[in-house]
Amino acid sequence: MCFFSSSSPLFFLCSKEEKVLGMEKAPGSCPYCGGAVSATDVERSYRLFCLPLCIVTKRKYACAACSRRLVTYP
Ligand SMILES: [Zn+2]
Repeated sequence: MCFFSSSSPLFFLCSKEEKVLGMEKAPGSCPYCGGAVSATDVERSYRLFCLPLCIVTKRKYACAACSRRLVTYP
């Protein structure tokens, strides 16, 4: 896990890069509109100057129909 948070003053010295690794259809449907859910794998890397600090891979869920971000989606 990354020890940096947005509340840290060091955050301003730290750059953040996001790279989309891939996208796929997730099982289930959107709780808001019943549309298809797509899962996006994002690799987030934090750097302090040129030094890579940590890399976090996250899976984000969003509805393909109403484009809501499904934060609490399992
Ligand atoms: Zn939806």
